[in-house]
Parts: sequence; structure tokens; C-alpha cells
Amino acid sequence: MTTFAETPTDAAPVNPFVETAERAALRASVAALAKRYGQEYFMECARTGKKTDELWREAGQLGFLGVNLPEEYGGGGAGMYELAIVMEEMSASGVGLLMMVVSPAICGNIIARFGTDDQKQRWLPGLSDGSITMAFGITEPEAGSNSHQITTTARRDGSDWLLTGRKVWISGVDQADAVLIVARTEDAKTGKLKPALFIVPTDAENFEYKQIAMELINPEKQFQLFLDDVRLPSDALVGSEDAALGQLFAGLNPERIMAAASAIGMARFALGKAVDYVNNRTVWKTPIGAHQAIAHPLAQGKIELEMAKLMMQKAATMYDAGDDWGAAEPANMSKYAAAEACVKIVDQAVQSMGGNGLSTEYGIAPLLNLCRVARVAPVSREMVLNFVAQTSLGLPKSY
Ligand SMILES: Cc1cc2nc3c(=O)[nH]c(=O)nc-3n(C[C@H](O)[C@H](O)[C@H](O)COP(=O)(O)OP(=O)(O)OC[C@H]3O[C@@H](n4cnc5c(N)ncnc54)[C@H](O)[C@@H]3O)c2cc1C
Repeated sequence: MTTFAETPTDAAPVNPFVETAERAALRASVAALAKRYGQEYFMECARTGKKTDELWREAGQLGFLGVNLPEEYGGGGAGMYELAIVMEEMSASGVGLLMMVVSPAICGNIIARFGTDDQKQRWLPGLSDGSITMAFGITEPEAGSNSHQITTTARRDGSDWLLTGRKVWISGVDQADAVLIVARTEDAKTGKLKPALFIVPTDAENFEYKQIAMELINPEKQFQLFLDDVRLPSDALVGSEDAALGQLFAGLNPERIMAAASAIGMARFALGKAVDYVNNRTVWKTPIGAHQAIAHPLAQGKIELEMAKLMMQKAATMYDAGDDWGAAEPANMSKYAAAEACVKIVDQAVQSMGGNGLSTEYGIAPLLNLCRVARVAPVSREMVLNFVAQTSLGLPKSY
């Protein structure tokens, strides 16, 4: 009988559940940077209207922001697995930068995969080192979750494009150099969405944006966009003008993986604080963490968070292997599971800490609203359930 130990092989067997030394080192370096800034820095930026520019710049210079982008354009040459490590570790130290979901993950991946050589030269080195930030705009006021109904339209004018439409909830436009806008071309106005993606500089003429007041304590803000015949050169179009959904999903699967990583990191942050607190707080004769009413929900949270993380790692591994369609199911499932685990854990952390859970000092209460973003965006909990019901289970559509 052959045992694993006797299996003839030159290399030691790879255990897919243990991160490689390179990945572990990346995780440790990101965590070190994130801890140096810490949640207090993040909260102060959010409360005083400052941006997290220093952190963004440093993360870029250390190669963290562009770890997934091609080496020939200044990136790290790794993949979404590594970028998700960066997101998770930042978030686990209370400095989860939302623009990481957008700039290197959605925009960087789409340009790297579908851009021309000139577009890659123009944008990728800056996206990699953080000197360029790009926002992403798909959501529209009327279409909402139904992206097939977007009406932002591009029409030809000589070799230029003229872009007109409205977008809503677009993150970080005030700190972005450009926005990757999802539109449709004039002759693809009706029927199923054939998205056409345009890079629109934020200082373009006839492009305006207005901040939306949000009850989120976060340095990165949301905006409404107004595009009225914004004139763009022909090379503003990334990929083909009726590239169908495949091109868009090259960016949307990474977005879901990053949303999962962000929620997993936030859940770790809240769980860590809660565990530390209940281990030290004694109001009877043992620390409150000994009471099962406190211990069990935290243990449940730990299980749910680890399961969500495994699914996220599966999604990233599939994406990095070039299997866009195969990555879609785990990307959606991990986004769902991570958001649910995060909301539950943050709520339980507040409860476990009594009055301190709601204080400014302990830094958990600001997460009560923030953790819910992952349930709504970039795709809502209900739309993920629709996807799983229809695609994984083959159930009929209600809409
Ligand atoms: C903080 C934040 C940042 C964001 N950043 C960006 C960004 O950078 N770029 C960008 O393009 N967008 C961004 N978004 C937008 C986000 O992707 C949308 O809010 C989200 O897709 C939901 O769309 P909606 O808000 O229009 O909700 P609606 O579509 O109006 O939905 C409202 C509710 O109805 C439910 N619902 C809708 N249709 C169905 C159905 N068929 N079956 C069951 N339930 C349904 C939804 O799940 C939801 O619970 C951001 C949103 C937030 C909150």
C-alpha cells in the first residue's frame, strides 16, 4: 500500500490550506503597515474630512496596491488572492480602504485584461504604485440593481465619443483621477446590456459630481455623477464597444472578492476587540467570556467568518486560474457569507462590550453602519440570492 509519505515525488506536497511563505510574508507586511496607522488614524480622517493619502501612498510604494497587476506595468505580477490578502489585513487593522476594491481590483483588472498597450502604459503603473486612483461607475438612479437598464449612452462624434448620463453612489470620485464608466453605445440602447467601458478623467468638461450625505464614518465618500455630452477621445473606450458581460465580469468578480475580503477583515477586527474585552472584563467571579451567552455567539461568528474566508479564497483561486465563469459562484457566495458574518459579529461585539460597545473610545460602534455596506454593495444580498437560486439551483426568475 502506498502512503502519502512514500508517494514518489521530488517536491514536497503542496497543502492548499496552508498559505505559501510568500503569501504569509505579504500578509505580515501589510498587517505591519496597517497597524502603524491603525483605526484611530482612519476615524480621525473620516471625522475631520481628511483623506487617507499617506496610507494610500505608502501602500502603493510598498507594492501592496498593485500586487495583482502585471509586472511589466509596475505591478506585483500576483493575483486576486494576494490583493484580497492586502484588503483583508488592512481592514483587520481598522483601515479598510474602500478604493482598493475599485481602483486596482475592478479598474486595474479590466484595463490589464482588455486595455490596449497604450492604455496599459498610461494607467497601470499609476494604479500599481497608487499615484493614480480610479473610481468605478455602474449604478444609476433609475436602474439600481437592474444594471441591464442603465441608460448612460455613448455616441460617436467623428473619432470622439460623447457620453451622457447619470450615476449614483459612486465612491471616491473626489480622490480619483478618472472614473471607469459603464455605458452603452447608442445603437445598443435597448435589449440586454452590452456594456461599453470608458475612462473619464474627473476634470473633463461637462462632467460634474456632487457628494451624497451618508451616515457612514468613512474617509471615502459617495457621489452623484452628471455627464452631459462629455467629449472623450476614441482611446477612452476600454475593450470592445459591445464587449458583452464577460468584459465587465472581469472586474465584477474581483469586486465581490474584495468586498468579501473587506468584510472578513472588519469581522476579524470586531471579533478581536470583543474577545480581548470579554477575556478581561469580570463582573461576577469569572471573566464575562466564560458565560456561554457571550462565548457561543462569538464562537459562531468565528466559524462563519472562517467559512466565508475559505469561499473567498476559492473564488480568488478560480479567478487567478483564468476561470471567470467558475469564479462567479464562489465570488457571490463569499460576498454574501462575509457580509452576513460581519454584520452578526459587529452586532455581537457591541453587545459583548456593554456600554463600552457604544462608546467612541472602543471603536466598535462606528462599524454598526459601515458593516452593512457589504450587505448592500457592490451587489445586494437579495441579488446574490437571486443569482444562486437561478444559476446554482436552476430556479425560475421572478423579475
Ligand atoms: C457605500 C456604498 C458605496 C457604493 N459604491 C459604488 C461605486 O463605487 N460604484 C457603483 O457603481 N456603485 C456603488 N454603490 C452602489 C451599490 O452597488 C448599489 O447601492 C447596490 O447595487 C443596490 O442598488 P440600489 O441602491 O439602487 O438598490 P435597489 O436596486 O433600489 O434595491 C433596493 C432593495 O431591493 C432589493 N431588490 C431589488 N431588486 C430585487 C429583486 N429582483 N429581487 C429581490 N430583491 C430585490 C435589493 O436587494 C435591495 O435590498 C455603492 C453603494 C454604497 C451603499
